[in-house]
Amino acid sequence: MNPTVVVVGAGFGGLRAARALRRAPVEVVLVDRHNYHLFQPLLYQVATAGLEPEQIARPVRAILRRQRNADFRLVEVTGLDLGRRELATDAGPLRYDYLVLAAGAGSRPTRGRSPTTTSCLPWAARPTFSGSTPCAATASP
Ligand SMILES: Cc1cc2nc3c(=O)[nH]c(=O)nc-3n(C[C@H](O)[C@H](O)[C@H](O)COP(=O)(O)OP(=O)(O)OC[C@H]3O[C@@H](n4cnc5c(N)ncnc54)[C@H](O)[C@@H]3O)c2cc1C
Repeated sequence: MNPTVVVVGAGFGGLRAARALRRAPVEVVLVDRHNYHLFQPLLYQVATAGLEPEQIARPVRAILRRQRNADFRLVEVTGLDLGRRELATDAGPLRYDYLVLAAGAGSRPTRGRSPTTTSCLPWAARPTFSGSTPCAATASP
């Protein structure tokens, strides 16, 4: 029996990992708390009514439907037991042989102040574009 690779997150990272394993002798289980992949770069188009939300969200199962060694589970991951190689999810434990964590990133307030929540949208706090935070210049002291 082929080993099971559990990939957490159906964003760019998780999908890329799952697709890269399409010819590998493994069973891929992709999990996400949403049943769709969100194309984040076009979020602003939805915010400005240029696109409908469904135009930037695609069902994960549709993306993976031709990948024979992949399965999708709509679950929220709540914990991880590295010793037992087991994820805790809201639908019960999920065992893996190999684990790919691609759950994205978020922002959180720094101690004593919260520039990201007061001065810009949380996504902008991600160190994505050349390591810089686009809203840093607007953060209040
Ligand atoms: C408005 C906007 C514009 C952008 N423009 C660009 C651009 O032009 N160029 C560029 O390179 N990048 C751009 N980015 C950044 C890029 O979209 C992100 O870096 C990328 O989407 C991150 O992918 P990811 O797979 O790491 O994480 P995500 O896409 O965040 O995916 C993480 C997935 O994990 C799931 N997840 C998280 N926690 C759990 C859990 N506990 N249980 C189950 N599932 C969970 C989430 O539901 C999500 O589907 C932009 C981002 C935004 C918001």
